[in-house]
Amino acid sequence: MKFSPPLRLASILIAAVAAIVHGQARPAPVTAERVKFVLSTLAHDSMEGRGTGTRGSMRAARFIANQFRLAGLTPAGDSGFFQHVPMVSRWLDPKSTLTADGTVLKAGVDFAVAPGRADPRSLDDVQVVFGGVRGDTANALTAEQVRGKLVIFAAAPAPVDGSRGGGRAAADGGSRQRPPAPPSCRDATATDGVSSSSRGGGGGGNRGRGRGGADGTVLAEAAGVATIEGDHLSPRTLWTATHPGGAFLKDPNAAQAPSAPGPATVSLTAHAAEALLGGSLTNARRGMAGKIVRSSVEFVEEPALGGNVVGLIEGSDPVMKNEVVLVDAHYDHLGIGMPAPGSKDSVYNGADDDASGTTAVIEIARAIKAGPRPKRTLVFIATTGEESGLIGTNWYIKHPVRPLSTMVANLEIEMIDRPDSLAGGSGKAWLTGFERSTMGDTLAARGIPIVKDPRPEESFFQRSDNIAFARMGIPAHTMSSFDLHTDYHRANDEVGLADFKHMAGVINAGVNAVQLLASGFRPQWYPGCQPPGSQSSTVP
Ligand SMILES: [Zn+2]
Repeated sequence: MKFSPPLRLASILIAAVAAIVHGQARPAPVTAERVKFVLSTLAHDSMEGRGTGTRGSMRAARFIANQFRLAGLTPAGDSGFFQHVPMVSRWLDPKSTLTADGTVLKAGVDFAVAPGRADPRSLDDVQVVFGGVRGDTANALTAEQVRGKLVIFAAAPAPVDGSRGGGRAAADGGSRQRPPAPPSCRDATATDGVSSSSRGGGGGGNRGRGRGGADGTVLAEAAGVATIEGDHLSPRTLWTATHPGGAFLKDPNAAQAPSAPGPATVSLTAHAAEALLGGSLTNARRGMAGKIVRSSVEFVEEPALGGNVVGLIEGSDPVMKNEVVLVDAHYDHLGIGMPAPGSKDSVYNGADDDASGTTAVIEIARAIKAGPRPKRTLVFIATTGEESGLIGTNWYIKHPVRPLSTMVANLEIEMIDRPDSLAGGSGKAWLTGFERSTMGDTLAARGIPIVKDPRPEESFFQRSDNIAFARMGIPAHTMSSFDLHTDYHRANDEVGLADFKHMAGVINAGVNAVQLLASGFRPQWYPGCQPPGSQSSTVP
């Protein structure tokens, strides 16, 4: 809806009067027009889907830094607002080959190997073995049968419901597979095993499938796990293997450093599988030995562009200014990938995920900077590499602009561009991990329109940047109104589907929440509700 000028003036006056009536100075409300401008820019095709480590993400970072500057924030990166994060991109060298009995199989034609953070195990001089149908765990091979071998599986029959999660090739890598059932707050310590790394395969293609599943433990000992895709490799496999999609952190001391080599995740044509097995697939039997394979598989690695955008507002209180409230959203998304059915192009715009949260960070910063100065210091971050495994946040944790021991709370904003009926509809949001700390209850009691995460089975508390801070012991939660729409991680997560009025409502709630957090309220974990992995049991 567009306001006529007199109406708009009237609404501003009403808001000002309301603020005075409440006896508390409040910043001017964030408008739907501003939200539209910022979100439309971040989710524009020219940003190329803000893929981690790409020029599109750098373009977005520059826009965000400029918005921080215009808002009057203090630059807090290592180069102005920009905090460089050293990353590399990796993809399969197209010259790679697999050879069996003189038959040479070509990368990108006969087979592909998914790139990962580190080189997978070598496939050179490795015995091939047939594993039967993928997912048939009742007849799974033993560890002895797979150890050090290239296990070839026939593809499992397609699931009946293929409607979710199949739209993305390059950077998603199956990393958003639904995690195990979430813990309730009380049993968190026992079962909270969902980590950033388990969802951050980042460019791994079939990596998740190669290691997961009921037979995953046994297969983890294989040199490689191959799946037969049909007469040809799927376009998605080819894209994943041959485009610099995933970006990986280069810092050897950081949390996302390369891990020990795991099995290579291989995709094969039927013809290539028969060459490696040395016979027809129709005659192949589970456990049957094939040929010895020779491999020249290599990965190409290049430095990738990337970093966080960091600005701050210094607190006004002589004591509390030494305490930090961190407000963040990830600005990266999935870049350019396979055009998906129903999408008009192949740019994964990520309007909702998470240009919408980034818009909130910019607008919350702008509104607060324009209003009365907060008592605590506020750090605003647009992070990189969330989609590739919380790269930017993990880097920030190693290189904070203020000591982490001074951080009293983290509020993240993720996916707020559409209303969620389970959160109460327009202008309302839910908070991940609401029941774990006093943050949700206190903010809700102060009139901020947030409710408990209505879908705890999705484990959203563990699935975004906030979890990295929570594991450090800092009460850290994400505000969202994601309603599980089907555009998630697809090329049609476009700005045209955004509801700016709703977004403005949620962002204004965010402004109020951050003001409360900045004025003295210090959230605490409820007993037993702090996620494991923290460095301290209480907030310093
Ligand atoms: Zn996201």
